Amino acid sequence: PQPNPQLGAAVKAADRAHVFHSWSAQELIDPLAVAGAEGSSFWDYDGRRYLDFTSGLVYTNIGYQHPKVVAAIQEQAATLTTFAPAFAIEARSEAARLIAERTPGDLDKIFFTNGGADAVEHAVRMARLHTGRPKVLSAYRSYHGGTQQAVNITGDPRRWPSDAGTAGVVHFWAPFLYRSRFYAENEEQECARALEHLETTIAFEGPSTIAAIILETIPGTAGIMVPPPGYLAGVRELCDKYGIVFVLDEVMAGFGRTGEWFAADLFDVVPDLMTFAKGVNSGYVPLGGVAISPAIAETFARRPYPGGLTYSGHPLACAAAVATINVMAEERVVENAATLGASVIEPGLRALAERHPSVGEVRGVGMFWALELVRNKETREPLVPYNAAGEANAPMLAFAKAAKAQGLWPFVNMNRTHVVPPCTITEAEAKEGLAALDTALTAADEFTV
Ligand code: PLP
Repeated sequence: PQPNPQLGAAVKAADRAHVFHSWSAQELIDPLAVAGAEGSSFWDYDGRRYLDFTSGLVYTNIGYQHPKVVAAIQEQAATLTTFAPAFAIEARSEAARLIAERTPGDLDKIFFTNGGADAVEHAVRMARLHTGRPKVLSAYRSYHGGTQQAVNITGDPRRWPSDAGTAGVVHFWAPFLYRSRFYAENEEQECARALEHLETTIAFEGPSTIAAIILETIPGTAGIMVPPPGYLAGVRELCDKYGIVFVLDEVMAGFGRTGEWFAADLFDVVPDLMTFAKGVNSGYVPLGGVAISPAIAETFARRPYPGGLTYSGHPLACAAAVATINVMAEERVVENAATLGASVIEPGLRALAERHPSVGEVRGVGMFWALELVRNKETREPLVPYNAAGEANAPMLAFAKAAKAQGLWPFVNMNRTHVVPPCTITEAEAKEGLAALDTALTAADEFTV
């Protein structure tokens, strides 16, 4: 594409004048004007290209502008762009069938939403109505969405400014051996102690008051902490023991990200409700949803479910989901995430950890990886303090700037960078990204002691 700096400047000026951005101090941000994107890359109006190691917000699992999905959206737009949710529509029926075919265990009914946060809202509402209980238990290191209920279920600092709605939400510690809350020295201890802590929390909150336990199968934004073997099975057991609905949030981990269709498949665990969004159609058109177990579906078999959305199962979004899922199956995208993750990304990241004093830990699976950046490998002091802002965050900004100078767009959250490229990434692109990370990490190394 031809560079067009003039148009870029106009796009930027109108953005700065009128667009109010998420999670930002409006005058302190400097959004890049993006001219286009394809596959694993995007470019600005000056013709500068970036390899996208973020997949947008970890959602373009098939990369940008996949021609078959673009064509399916065009075709659906020409046929039936939109239709109200109370009707049976081909794209909606087919999307639900393809999703239900892939969801773990007996999850068989699909309630469609516009994205992840409202999927979480509805999962929690279903759990409360199904059990008649008020409380929800969730993990401190978690993110479940930006709406009032979902942001309060979230465990990270994004909930603090909206905390008025915490009634009924109780947070607990999920396992994370590198920064263990349980003085654990190995995964078995971490798993056993985290489960003991959860059962004690249930006992002290009162089992008969708890509607749901919600967990990201692998916490994403909070740091990609793959749970130790046995943890999720243990949570499943506790839920069964106390009649609590088990909700797995697969908004980020689902649809190929971990090298399986769903992260739950890695652990052989079946929740009662599972939320999804993002990768379901690579975010080409907003779509999310809740996959529902027969027992919970039965609760609403002859009693109306008191919830809905104008755009539930929007035909354009569903047509994009059908095309995306078919492309993922035909092009073996899930397999690519597993294979390249294990053969190129993981060894590449482990080699970076050997070379760079700032890399404290490498963890992840498939196309879902985190580097924990530290000031010192021995003390594990984070490279920047928890929730750092301004000057205190300078080391992470220096790292991000160095990555961008190498043509790599990095995912940065607190003291971590996540390696979450599209699941369609090629081996050559993965290696190019790893080489750019290598250079960028030398900027982080400068802050080690
Ligand atoms: N749940 C998880 C695990 C997420 O990662 C996110 C978004 O990042 C959400 C829920 C919220 O999804 P959305 O931004 O589509 O509302």
